[in-house]
Amino acid sequence: MLVNRTFYLDIQKEFNEKQVVLVAVSKTKPIEAIKELYDLGHRDFGENYVQELEEKQQQLPADIRWHYIGHLQTNKVRYITPFVHLVQSVDSIKLLKEINKQAQKSDRIVDVLLQVHIAQEETKFGFDETEIKELFGGTELNELKHVRLRGLMGMGSLTEDMDQVRKEFQVLKQIFDSARVKLNSNEFNTLSMGMSSDYKVAIEEGSNMVRIGSLLFGARS
Ligand SMILES: *Cc1c(COP(=O)(O)O)cnc(C)c1O
Repeated sequence: MLVNRTFYLDIQKEFNEKQVVLVAVSKTKPIEAIKELYDLGHRDFGENYVQELEEKQQQLPADIRWHYIGHLQTNKVRYITPFVHLVQSVDSIKLLKEINKQAQKSDRIVDVLLQVHIAQEETKFGFDETEIKELFGGTELNELKHVRLRGLMGMGSLTEDMDQVRKEFQVLKQIFDSARVKLNSNEFNTLSMGMSSDYKVAIEEGSNMVRIGSLLFGARS
């Protein structure tokens, strides 16, 4: 078995009750593992690499909702805009504009989340709080007719210190809430935070979308 079924069935039940969307992070995992979860009824899968996502998308059923969660280079956007369900990792205006441009070419409106930098590590991509506020205060977003802003995504620090991670999630929830008020849009309703190590804390702090890989598919090599 390539999937931890017991864990999956347990969290599915819990997430259904709490209305939390589970994105199964299948990066580096084989097609067969995805199929196994698909056969249990799962449809939301997350990938980090464009080429890997393209290959998997071509081999798997068309009703899978593919979430792109890795750093996305502008020159690769066009490979995924024809089919991607949600780009969660938009970390610059330049990238947002490119998604808009390529989505237009595919005659689509692509759903996106803005990635916000909340962790202590320097290396994580994303907007900071000030940039988010500026963006939502300005008019730049109004011109982008082929992207739909659905919410925010963030990653907590890579640490065992759950108090630290909890604080970071609280910060992101606050940014999310004020953006929601500012935008005054029902479409802006998704807060993607939490992975295998911290999804419980994330849900306690208001997450409604979690991205879980290793607890479902085993550790990545
Ligand atoms: C890999 C990855 C995950 C899943 O991580 P796990 O610890 O395996 O659950 C979640 N979110 C992002 C952005 C990732 O890159």
